Amino acid sequence: MRYELKPYSFSPTYPASYYAATAIDAPTRDQLTDVVCCDVCIIGAGFTGLSAALFLAEAGYKAAIIEAARVGWGASGRNGGQAINGFVASIDRMAASLGREAALEIRAMEGEGVDIIRQRVDAYGIDCDLKNGSLAVACNGMHMRKLEKMFFDLPPGPDRDNLEFLDRPALSRHIGSGAYCGGLIDRAGGHVHPLNLALGEAAAVESLGGMIYENSPVTAIETDDRELRVCTLEGEVQCRKLLLCGNAYLEIEGNDLSQRMLPTRSEIVATEALDEVLAAELLPSNAAVYDMNFIPDYFRLSADRRMLFGCSANYGGLGKRPLGNVSEAHMRRVFPQLRNARIDYRWDGIFAVTVNRFPQLGHVAGNILYGRAYSGQGVNCSHLFGKLLFEAVVERTARFDLFASLPQPEFPGGTTLRAPITTVAAWWLQTRDRLGV
Ligand SMILES: Cc1cc2nc3c(=O)[nH]c(=O)nc-3n(C[C@H](O)[C@H](O)[C@H](O)COP(=O)(O)OP(=O)(O)OC[C@H]3O[C@@H](n4cnc5c(N)ncnc54)[C@H](O)[C@@H]3O)c2cc1C
Repeated sequence: MRYELKPYSFSPTYPASYYAATAIDAPTRDQLTDVVCCDVCIIGAGFTGLSAALFLAEAGYKAAIIEAARVGWGASGRNGGQAINGFVASIDRMAASLGREAALEIRAMEGEGVDIIRQRVDAYGIDCDLKNGSLAVACNGMHMRKLEKMFFDLPPGPDRDNLEFLDRPALSRHIGSGAYCGGLIDRAGGHVHPLNLALGEAAAVESLGGMIYENSPVTAIETDDRELRVCTLEGEVQCRKLLLCGNAYLEIEGNDLSQRMLPTRSEIVATEALDEVLAAELLPSNAAVYDMNFIPDYFRLSADRRMLFGCSANYGGLGKRPLGNVSEAHMRRVFPQLRNARIDYRWDGIFAVTVNRFPQLGHVAGNILYGRAYSGQGVNCSHLFGKLLFEAVVERTARFDLFASLPQPEFPGGTTLRAPITTVAAWWLQTRDRLGV
C-alpha cells in the first residue's frame, strides 16, 4: 500500500515571532539524504512527535523524527504558550459518547500533559520560562455558569484544591481589566516559551540517541503491514512503526482522515517590554488567561514582560486579514492601559480543529498510528498523546484505545466546503457568546 502526502509550502526558517527572536541556541539538523533504519519513525517535530520520541528514547527504542521544516516550526513553536489542563470538549460530552466510566478514565488524564512538561523541564534542565497559573475568564453570566459547573463537577480532592472560583472582586487579584465578570484559576496549569520547550525536548531526544532530521518533508509512505518505508525527496527511513504527528499540516491524498479535521489559523501580537508596574497592574498573579468564548482571546506576559495576546480562528485560512490586526484591537479593548503600547511582533500559525472538539488518536494501518487535532488546546494534550502513542508502540494499548474509540466525524462539505460551512457555524456560536445565551 502506498500513501501520498499532500504537499505543503514548508519553510526552512521560523516565522518572525517573539519566540524565534528569543530562542535558545540550537543546531540546524541535517536533511535526510540517506537510507536510515530504526524501530519507530515519527513525522513531525512538534510537541506530539517530540513527546513520543522522548518516551521511546528513554525506553531504549531507536527513534527517528523526520521534520519538514525545523524543530517546533509548526504550531508548537508559535502558540500562546498556555499549558491548560483538560480538553476543549467537556467530560460530559465524552461521557455521552463513551459512557461515564470511560469518560472518568479520560478525566484522570486531564493534567498529565502538563505534568510531563514539568518533569521534562526538571529532568533535562530545559530553559523555557515555565510559570504556574492558568486562568479561564467569563465574559457573561452564561460563561460564569459554565465555570461554576466545571468547578463543582470535580470531586473534592487535589485537582479541585488547585482550582479557585473567582467572582468579580476576587478576579481583580489576577487581572487588571473590567472586561470580565469572574473566572476560574487553576494553579496546576501554567505557561511556557513553547519554542524553547520544543528545542529543549529535541536536545533531550538526541542526548539519548534519538535522531532528528530537518528540512525533509515526507512525500510518501509505503507499507506491507510488516515493514514500512517513509520517503522524502532525497532519503528514506525503514522502520517497524510509524507515528503521524504532523497535525494540521499532514493530509494523506484521498484518505478520509483529512475530512475529519480542519486546519485553522490563529494570530498573536507581542508588545514592547512593559515596565514592571504596568505589567503587575495588568496581570498581577502572572497567570496565562483565556476567555470562555467559542473563539477565545488568550493572553499572558512573557518572561521579559511583553503582553502576548492572541485570538481569532480563521477556518481553513479563509479571508486572511492583515496579520495581527484583530488581536491588537482585542488587546487594546481588554486593556485600555495598552492603548499606546508598541507592537514589536506579529505572527500566526495553524492548528487542527475537529467537528466535536474531541482530540484524535487512531490507526491509518496496523503499523501507522496518528495523534492530533487538539482544537486549539494542545500544549497539554500533545504531551499526553505523545505518551499514549508510545504506550501503543510498546503494546500497552488500553489508554490509546480509550481515546481511539471517541467518534471522529467528518466535517460536512468535504475538503472544499468544510471551511466555509464551519465559518458560518462559528459565526452563529460567536453571536450566541456575544448575546450571552
Ligand atoms: C497561533 C496559535 C496559538 C496557539 N495557542 C495555544 C495555547 O496557548 N495553548 C494550547 O494549549 N494550544 C495552543 N495552540 C495549539 C497548539 O499549539 C497545538 O495544538 C500543538 O502545538 C500541536 O502540536 P503538534 O506537535 O501536534 O503539531 P505541530 O506543532 O503543528 O507540529 C507538526 C509538525 O509536523 C511537521 N510536518 C507536517 N507534515 C510533515 C511532512 N509531510 N513531513 C515532515 N514533517 C511534517 C510540521 O512541519 C510541524 O513542525 C495554538 C496554536 C496556534 C497556531
